[in-house]
Amino acid sequence: MPNFLSRLSLIIFIISLSFDVYAQKVEETEDAFFIKAIYDQVLSSSSCYDWLDHLSSNIGGRLSGSEAAARAVEYTRDMLDTLGLSRVHLQDCMVPHWERGEKEVVYMTSKKTGKRTNLDVLALGNSVATIATGISGEVVEVKSLDDLEKLGEAGLKGKIVFFNRPMDPTQIRTFNAYGGAVDQRVWGPTKASKYGAIGALVRSMTTKIDDIPHTGVTVNEEGNVKIPALAVSTMDAELLSATLKEGIVEVYIKTDCKTFEDAPSHNVIGEIIGSEFPEEIILVGGHLDSWDVGGGAHDDGAGCVHAMEVLNILTKLNYRPKRTLRCVLFMNEENGLGGGKAYAEASDKNNEYHLAAIESDAGGFTPRGFSADGHADIFSERYKNVSKWLPLLEPFGLSFSKGGSGADISPLKGQKGMLFGFRPDSQRYFDYHHTAADTIDAVNQRELEMGAAAITSLVYLIDKYGL
Ligand SMILES: [Zn+2]
Repeated sequence: MPNFLSRLSLIIFIISLSFDVYAQKVEETEDAFFIKAIYDQVLSSSSCYDWLDHLSSNIGGRLSGSEAAARAVEYTRDMLDTLGLSRVHLQDCMVPHWERGEKEVVYMTSKKTGKRTNLDVLALGNSVATIATGISGEVVEVKSLDDLEKLGEAGLKGKIVFFNRPMDPTQIRTFNAYGGAVDQRVWGPTKASKYGAIGALVRSMTTKIDDIPHTGVTVNEEGNVKIPALAVSTMDAELLSATLKEGIVEVYIKTDCKTFEDAPSHNVIGEIIGSEFPEEIILVGGHLDSWDVGGGAHDDGAGCVHAMEVLNILTKLNYRPKRTLRCVLFMNEENGLGGGKAYAEASDKNNEYHLAAIESDAGGFTPRGFSADGHADIFSERYKNVSKWLPLLEPFGLSFSKGGSGADISPLKGQKGMLFGFRPDSQRYFDYHHTAADTIDAVNQRELEMGAAAITSLVYLIDKYGL
């Protein structure tokens, strides 16, 4: 009898086990079908490319505090209003207001040959104006912030400092190369001013050699004199460096930049309230502001329309989320993070919980996956959990890696949810980043749509299973 009982329990065990396996297989098949349906929907009828075209071509460059940024807020709110979401609203924030003014003029003169050459430049965000007649000075080339200390006041006073360390071309992910060079742009001019430099030129942040200057933010450290600071194209950086090898070079700089009082602005938020766990928020976002030149198509109009499209697709597929899905278009990522900070402050104050936040701020290129980050208390276990979804995502070329998420969502880390950065192919991103060339023509519609589908697939899995 005991023998019979143990055999019976073994049979029951095997049946229940196989039922579990069967049930799991059914779930996996259902998920695979749904993810395919997401891709089908986006690739056959999505709005993200049209939205991006309007944002980058009709509204154009939309630096915080500008009229164009205000129009981008109105436009994206209106578009979210058409999607039939639970709620669309604007969240107040304060942002800096800096304007480039008239086109910059920079030329170099070789003391040896007397030859004068115009350089392709763009003032950096936060740069000041020169006097109306411009300024001139002898150029000193440096490769790092450490070089400034070595030269000191004796070597830098009255000079124009030229930062010329290229982005490391051997880095496979171009964002790592950017991270390794951008200290020159962010901190170089103000540190040079500390030693009496009167102006700064910074080699553009790109691995490509061309005549397109790349702007971006520079910081004015408290107590240091603010000096005109400009990005110079890589081609002209090479030329300037080569000319310096022949002898003394003098550079003339004229800028017209102005900094105004901080201005009120907004994050744009649309959400679908969850049916079972409305207090668990899954955020998808990008940043609505861009630099003033170009159309901010890859940076970061693409991220904004990705986030909007996630809610659009799931609605079109009649998907009813269990958790609250929230699209946030952050203001002022480029030069201050006013929007990201205001969002996190309000969220913490309201005791909100972001189960997950996903930021798309790496362009509209072919999706490769997601980098994941999170508070040390929760990260390892949840990273293991999301990795179980790889068999569903790998057929679409997606993987997970550990790493940073996004500047706007990283203040949410303390809520102990998971943070993800959408990671498309990075090889061409710095051909366009912060330039006049970042327009809709630089965006491939299909690649942009694939990105929206990739993010939607991850949102679907997080919503269905939690973390
Ligand atoms: Zn960006």
